[in-house]
Amino acid sequence: MKRIENIEPNYKNPKKYKTAKYPIRQPIYLTQLIQVLSKMMLLNKDKQVEKVNMEGLKPPFMLLSNHQAFCDFELVSLGTYPLRVNNVVNIDGYYRRAWLLEWIGAICTRKFTTDFHLVKSIRKVLSRGDVLCMYPEARYSPCGVTSYLPESLGALVKMCKVPVVVAKHRGNHLHAPAYNIKQKRRVPHRTTMTKILDAEQIKKMSVDDINALLRKHFEYDDYRYWQESGFKITEGYRAEGLEKVLYKCPKCKSEGKMATRGAELYCTECGKKYTLGEDGFLRANEGETEFSHIPDWFNWERECVREEVRSGSYHFEDAVDVHSMPRTNSFIPLGNATLNHSITDGFILSGSYRGKEYRIQRTPLQTNSLHVEYEFPHIKPLDCIDISTEDDSFYCYPTKANVATKLAFATEEIYLLHYERTRERI
Ligand SMILES: [Zn+2]
Repeated sequence: MKRIENIEPNYKNPKKYKTAKYPIRQPIYLTQLIQVLSKMMLLNKDKQVEKVNMEGLKPPFMLLSNHQAFCDFELVSLGTYPLRVNNVVNIDGYYRRAWLLEWIGAICTRKFTTDFHLVKSIRKVLSRGDVLCMYPEARYSPCGVTSYLPESLGALVKMCKVPVVVAKHRGNHLHAPAYNIKQKRRVPHRTTMTKILDAEQIKKMSVDDINALLRKHFEYDDYRYWQESGFKITEGYRAEGLEKVLYKCPKCKSEGKMATRGAELYCTECGKKYTLGEDGFLRANEGETEFSHIPDWFNWERECVREEVRSGSYHFEDAVDVHSMPRTNSFIPLGNATLNHSITDGFILSGSYRGKEYRIQRTPLQTNSLHVEYEFPHIKPLDCIDISTEDDSFYCYPTKANVATKLAFATEEIYLLHYERTRERI
């Protein structure tokens, strides 16, 4: 494979935040404090944490949780107390509070990069006899269903040889969907923590078998949960923000033209309108309902992107406003740059900063998924995508409307295409 040389921005201060360091053991008074804070945050919520097959389980173990919203952390805390838990956290969680995250024993990484030290830190936590908690989907589920699970997860489990518990949350996405975190809805939160593997079982299983089992236990669909549990979401704004994930009109096939208001989702191109019912089903206001189930619409969009990738017609280019994060104290505005995304080269970000050109490339096999932030609060509340290298992160705000979800699909589909080709060659 040809080697990619990145040319980094001409920073005045070239120092980077060092993610390659071991986390401290969480002090027990902080475990208690986190528990108290979590209980306070969850005070008025309808919640249940159920434990399955966990009797007699002692740490160390790995806790793998699905990722829907911030309250995942609080619910995990309810379920794991009084054990000490070290969480793997992305670097933007460290923004202006690295000391706090270091203090509670979090392990810092940059999303969707190859972080060799991460494995060392994980093993360190387990060797101390504590709980290692990871959110392997690595970002909030965009549409309330399982998002990407990396192939490397099975190998990690195999290597660590400790029991594995899967925490599956239901309702957290509906409460604060990634596409509209600010407007919360009242829903029942249900968390199930299940021990799915013990050390002896892991020894006998292949990495592929472990991955298959993890995938099975990570299956979830919050909209199905809504429809089947029978509760109602009565907030009038319940469809707002949906256009960020349902960006393609099933009637006229135009992209980035969907909009929402209240409980309605509509296409500004052809005028077709849908209403999201209090029961979790979408219905066309007139004519055919192409998708009554939101994740079906979302998966159809993925299929469309897959077809573009497999037929070779996919390509993306846009002017982006870039803010980088080499350290945790600030974002550095790098100004405008060009972002290219192609089937052969992956992402190429090229721009100029303080009089010098920079160029950041992430090849298809280097990026198995994409970190998307809808209305990212830290820089400006608009949608952005983050292209991370092993020691820097570039938050790119596209000029084109509503393209982040499609870019995420394309990243995963392009990775898969190259991954399949690599496996065929072996
Ligand atoms: Zn349309």
